[in-house]
Formats: sequence, structure tokens, C-alpha cells
Amino acid sequence: MQKTTQLYEGKAKKVYATEDPEYCIVSYKDDATAFNGLKKGSIAGKGAINNRVTNFLMKLLEKNGIPTHYVEELNDRETVVRRVKIVPLEVIVRNIAAGSLAKRLGVEEGTKLHSTVLEYCYKDDALGDPMVNEYHILAMQWATKEELDKIASYALKINKVLSDYLKAVNIELIDFKLEFGKTSDGTIVLADEISPDTCRFWDSVTKEKLDKDRFRRDLGGVEDAYHEILKRLLGE
Ligand code: UDP
Repeated sequence: MQKTTQLYEGKAKKVYATEDPEYCIVSYKDDATAFNGLKKGSIAGKGAINNRVTNFLMKLLEKNGIPTHYVEELNDRETVVRRVKIVPLEVIVRNIAAGSLAKRLGVEEGTKLHSTVLEYCYKDDALGDPMVNEYHILAMQWATKEELDKIASYALKINKVLSDYLKAVNIELIDFKLEFGKTSDGTIVLADEISPDTCRFWDSVTKEKLDKDRFRRDLGGVEDAYHEILKRLLGE
């Protein structure tokens, strides 16, 4: 499949149209941003790692009954995906308090949550992706009740599949962000990426951070952390 025109350029990826209106090609960049674009930088090799990690995890989820937009990896940085209309929500799943939740609730980062927490943010950079609840989502018609129920149940199943898989390679899944899309026939599928940019991964034993927090918080060893995730998941 060939790229035709560029449809969109985001902070970490470019999306191209193809000859077939049902498919597009995603190209992952090394660019990194944090704090709604306020902090900018680049992480060498990140695009290729996020492409490969995302595709590996999407395939794992497909095997476990979660429909995704994944079609075919073309090369290091590029993947063919189903063309979808993105539901304008960031779906956040949390197992351990960290980041904005730790701040909001005034608990120490690393505090175990006694049950999984699901949050939604409205995807709008100009508004800073505000947190919203089910009532806002239905009132604004960002998704129907049926779509939202499906999204929530997929998100919890994804959490279970990923947490179990990662535990076996000594990674604790602290929290992560998902995005869903709708295909031309209205099917809800998992879209976007699942990578160290969008998940918090801690080493199960040492609790070392192996994700984008190393960039956000200037902890050093950013590239090494991304490589470590690739190595633990794909063995390279
Ligand atoms: N996250 C993301 N994109 C965003 C906001 C959050 O991928 O625009 C991920 C983030 O990597 C973390 C989880 O969602 O794994 C929860 O993030 P949080 O709300 O704690 O915000 P942060 O502290 O990252 O600003």
C-alpha cells in the first residue's frame, strides 16, 4: 500500500491517506512533547520503538478479542491501519496512583488503587484536554451510551490483558491512555498507540520508570528506557 496525501500531523505521528479510502498509513516520529506541548524535544529511535511496541501489543489484544485498527507493519516507522473517525476522548486507565491523579487526590505516587480507575478527557489541545464524565460525553454527543459502554468494557479488558502480559516480563502497568475510533460501518475499534509515550511502565522489582516520565521529569536515560521496553517485549 502506498502513501498519497498527508492527512494530519500530530505531536508524535503523521497520518497519510492511501489509494484505498478504508486505510491509512501512520508514520511515527522521534519528536517528543509534554505538558500540552510546552516542553519539546526529541528521543532518538523513539518512532521506530513506539511503532513496533504498539503493533506488538495491538496484535496481542486482537488475539484476546479486542478489535483494533492495526492492519500491517510496513517498515520500522510505518504501519497500515484502518481509517477511523476518532472518538474525541482520551480514555485513561489507572491501577496505581501517579501523575495528575496523585496530585489531584493528594496521595503519594505509587499508592495502590483498590480498584481500577477509568477517566475520560475531551481531546482538545486548546482547552488542555479537560477531564469529563459520562454525562458530558452523552450531552455533547461525543459518543452514544452504547458506544461508551463498549469503550469502557474494552478498556478494562485491555487493562487485564496488558497487565498480565507485562507482569511476566517484570513490568508493572501503572496507568495508560487509549483512543478509540469508528470504522465506516460504525464498529468501535482500538486506535492510536500503546507505547512508553502513552503508558507508565515501572520495573516490577526496582520500580524504575521505563516510560515518558523520564523525558517529562528530566530523569535522564530516556532512550535506554524505551529500548528496555522493546527488549522486554520483543526480545531485541
Ligand atoms: N497520557 C497520554 N497522553 C496525554 C495524557 C496522559 O498518553 O495527553 C497518559 C500518560 O502517559 C499516563 C496516563 O495517560 O500513562 C495518565 O496520565 P496523567 O493523567 O497522570 O497525566 P500526566 O501526569 O501524564 O500529565
